[in-house]
Amino acid sequence: MVQYVGVSNVIELVRSVGIETFLLGLADYIEEDFRRWEQFEKTPRVASHSKTGVIELMPTSDGQHYGFKYVNGHPKNPNVGLQTVTAFGVLSDVSTGYPCLVSEMTLMTGLRTAATSALAAKYLARKDSRTMAIIGLGAQSEFQALAFSALLGIKSLYVYDIDPDAAAKFRDNLADTDIDIAVAKSAEEAVALADIITTVTADKKNATILSDNMVGAGVHINAVGGDCPGKTELQGDILRRADVFVEFPEQTRIEGEIQQMAADFPVTELWQVMTGEAIGRHSDTQITIFDSVGFATEDFSALRYLRDAVQGTDFFTELDLTTQPVDPRNLYGLFRRSAPGALGSYA
Ligand code: NAD
Repeated sequence: MVQYVGVSNVIELVRSVGIETFLLGLADYIEEDFRRWEQFEKTPRVASHSKTGVIELMPTSDGQHYGFKYVNGHPKNPNVGLQTVTAFGVLSDVSTGYPCLVSEMTLMTGLRTAATSALAAKYLARKDSRTMAIIGLGAQSEFQALAFSALLGIKSLYVYDIDPDAAAKFRDNLADTDIDIAVAKSAEEAVALADIITTVTADKKNATILSDNMVGAGVHINAVGGDCPGKTELQGDILRRADVFVEFPEQTRIEGEIQQMAADFPVTELWQVMTGEAIGRHSDTQITIFDSVGFATEDFSALRYLRDAVQGTDFFTELDLTTQPVDPRNLYGLFRRSAPGALGSYA
């Protein structure tokens, strides 16, 4: 039997501990795995592009466990009542190859993306950062707000979305928190007073969510929405003025904001900043950019965190995903109900 953590399990688990506590715990697991970066098998994700979006597989292994996530990105899905991003994941035992956990990963993607963003900002943003702008108030946005609140104490937000209903939804969802939200009339207005700028829009094109003149000295940019070939949010001039930090350069050069730049455009890997091998922010006037695309180790961390978090709880069910014949070589015997013992645990 394989442990299955479904959507309702994740909702109940997060409710039971509180979302900010959950994000703090998740961020610890993500940071722990970034800090042991060299132990991981790494490859850019395997992407299948279509006119409407992309379907991706994101595998990695630390030698003991193997994990992968299936995830899509379809920006026009909300027009037909579907989500832009939806996902599930698997964690397996490398020594036997058997899966041990299957999980929903749509909610977990929102949580792990936000936890990673806030973790990066903890290392890269100015320590006196108090305010954040969020441009794009879709499915990911509240998670981003809550992770920055939990990890950095950011309680003041200026937000903007081209769709006023998205701003109303965002405000309503966070009404019970201590986060102060000002809805701006434009992206320019939202970023004017922000120490940190999060861009998390969805459009399958090279968009200009931030133009160079909108970004002042000392700002940290958390660029989340540009995560596919032909899908970016920042004007290239901003990248030239800034120091850019990435998860896995081989993947980010294909999918991130830096796809706009030459193949040798200098970037720093986030794990190196976390371990002290590279410098992150060195001055209060420096512009830092976390060119987030989402990397497999973050999903691996999320699966690891879930596996540990659900032990001893009711927040999972057993899934009969693997066969268990008494005689491992007698797979066919599982079809023969009359054969005594052949059905193993199903007998
Ligand atoms: P979503 O479709 O739910 O929300 C996107 C929002 O952006 C919508 O409310 C839309 O109105 C708004 N928007 C679009 N263009 C805009 C513009 N020009 N100005 C202001 N707002 C604008 O999508 P989502 O699930 O929230 O995902 C957002 C983006 O983040 C997607 O591009 C997705 O692929 C990406 N993403 C990245 C990661 C990562 O790890 N980096 C993880 C998950 C999602």
